Amino acid sequence: MSRKPIFAANWKMNKGASETEDFIQSFLNKTQGLNLAADIVIAPPFISLPRLADLLHNSNPGKNAHAVQIAAQNCSQYDSGAYTGEVSVLMLREFFVHYVILGHSERRSIFGETDAVINAKIKKAREANLKPIFCIGETLEEREGGKLESVLKTQVTEGLKDISEKDLSDIVIAYEPVWAIGTGVTATSEQAQEAHAFVRSLIAGLYGSEPAAKVRIQYGGSVKPGSAAELMACPDIDGALIGGAALEPQSFLEIIKNGTAE
Ligand code: PEP
Repeated sequence: MSRKPIFAANWKMNKGASETEDFIQSFLNKTQGLNLAADIVIAPPFISLPRLADLLHNSNPGKNAHAVQIAAQNCSQYDSGAYTGEVSVLMLREFFVHYVILGHSERRSIFGETDAVINAKIKKAREANLKPIFCIGETLEEREGGKLESVLKTQVTEGLKDISEKDLSDIVIAYEPVWAIGTGVTATSEQAQEAHAFVRSLIAGLYGSEPAAKVRIQYGGSVKPGSAAELMACPDIDGALIGGAALEPQSFLEIIKNGTAE
């Protein structure tokens, strides 16, 4: 089963509109003429989405700008109304947003998002035809306590509760061991492959072997240009979700290039 790899930049709370513009102009110049065999996605802060949408859809004709797709870093599980500080899926759609990162470990640990909230957000995203990048992963304590599989099983089962097989086909799973996010410690390719294969087996148990073979599972956690090739060569790893190393156009591009080299 060949799955198109997907490389997504999670800028977190970095880059306002002008820094977004600097990045995109440089990234588009560097990628001009390249035929990268991957989906490329950038998730800026909400406030930078309008500028990113304009840069990719209006201001750079002929620069292959449409090859870059836009993600939000979060969305509300509600449609509209008295939810101060929230952003709805329909608001995101106005800015050519196609993906939304949900369940990131920072949303879980800092903002208290539960599996049930993440499940509600995945459903809301799908109602608006947004593609969730659904993040899961264990803490170091959980891994060392022998709880890796039970943690992943709960996150997958609860996060995807009542999600149809059709909707699953528009969901990307991101396996991100919490101990590897922003720490400079990358999972070894063996650790990552083992977890990815386990997640795929969970999906097979829930949906059957064909949907499991099709679902894309990204690895995230301190991916760098130097580690991309080995990780992406693993049979169950289908791209990367990248934080720190995706803040620089050259390093993001090198990860994509190294991760897609035959
Ligand atoms: C992330 O935030 O999803 C991430 C993987 O960050 P980093 O690449 O910096 O570890």
